[in-house]
Amino acid sequence: MLTLREVTKEYKVGAFGGKTVAAVKGVSFDVVPGEVVSLIGESGSGKSTIGRMILGLHPVTSGTITFDGRPVRAGKDYYRHVQGIFQDPFSSFNPVFKADRVFAMIKEAYYPDVPAAEWAERVETSLRDVRLNPAQVLGKYPHQLSGGQLQRLLIARALLLDIKLLVADEITSMLDASTRIDVLNLLAELKTRGLGVLYITHDLSLGTYLAERTVVLRRGRVAEMGPTDEVFGDPLHPYTRELLSAVPRLHESWDDAAPVESCLYHDKGGTGGLLEAAPGHFVACSALPSCPSGEV
Ligand code: ADP
Ligand code: MG
Repeated sequence: MLTLREVTKEYKVGAFGGKTVAAVKGVSFDVVPGEVVSLIGESGSGKSTIGRMILGLHPVTSGTITFDGRPVRAGKDYYRHVQGIFQDPFSSFNPVFKADRVFAMIKEAYYPDVPAAEWAERVETSLRDVRLNPAQVLGKYPHQLSGGQLQRLLIARALLLDIKLLVADEITSMLDASTRIDVLNLLAELKTRGLGVLYITHDLSLGTYLAERTVVLRRGRVAEMGPTDEVFGDPLHPYTRELLSAVPRLHESWDDAAPVESCLYHDKGGTGGLLEAAPGHFVACSALPSCPSGEV
């Protein structure tokens, strides 16, 4: 199980690193095996930062991230169980090598003793598991394959490892609509194998498609989280409502968006953190200028 507690990330910026940008502020949530959790928010809300911290690619500034009780530690042992896939599948492949080199690298690092014939069989099985025809993808260079095929190759590679958690950061945003649904269906299958998936997206409609639970991120903080049906069926936070009413605008920055009207969190007598409005359904202060906490 993946556990984030009060996770904060400040990036140092500026020529001498004297300034900081607070990208993630006090974020806590879990992903349990066999569950897809979608992490939704506008561009710049801190989603990828959270994904990268979970993958050990950035250190946390404060707070803790643990997987099965142990702190994240980038390295072979961790990546055997936790893998990430990102928006641009081409960037995960070296263009001068054939795409299936990613499998050879997994073998070298994790399964050096598996005989070549058995390994070839395992690769073929994992390719079929992601609905790729081995004959059509093996031996090809990345530029000879489509984005959807490359994304599936990366999922197949993850399946060759004994992964328990997949962090999928905007993995369908460069795919066309029908390929997108295929990849989403694939993720849905992964959860039936007991994998946990953190599905990061700015696209609300894709988030609802898959996820048992949804975490809505706003400016680095959790605005609302809970069972997907409840968060979308009965959104408590004005920001979630705005997201729902403006789905086509989600790719835009929200700095100019209309201000939200009430502070539900404080209306309900909250004093900080998240209020549990219904079992498992949490909501934060809407961060209005008028909000007495002064949170932004
Ligand atoms: P999202 O994935 O939701 O679009 P990000 O996590 O990429 O959001 O970014 C969150 C905030 O952190 C943004 O303000 C972004 O500009 C900033 N940020 C992201 N990566 C870096 C970095 N390496 N250095 C400095 N600031 C960064
Ligand atoms: Mg991102």
